[in-house]
Amino acid sequence: MSTKPKIHPLVDALQLTCPHCGQDFVTPLDGAEGRTEFVTDCEICCRPMEVSVEIRDGAVSAVNVTES
Ligand SMILES: [Zn+2]
Repeated sequence: MSTKPKIHPLVDALQLTCPHCGQDFVTPLDGAEGRTEFVTDCEICCRPMEVSVEIRDGAVSAVNVTES
């Protein structure tokens, strides 16, 4: 296995705070650069939320969670 440089996703998980129940949980993320929007269900109360995450230089630069 070589270790030649490549764009490697440093972000493979994202901690979110549920807008419904206020609990924190972690959701998997593909770590793509730029803005990603998706809908996920809270692991605690199972209600959906819309997540907008922005990744720059392999790190999360902004996260916004709203009720879906
Ligand atoms: Zn919840």
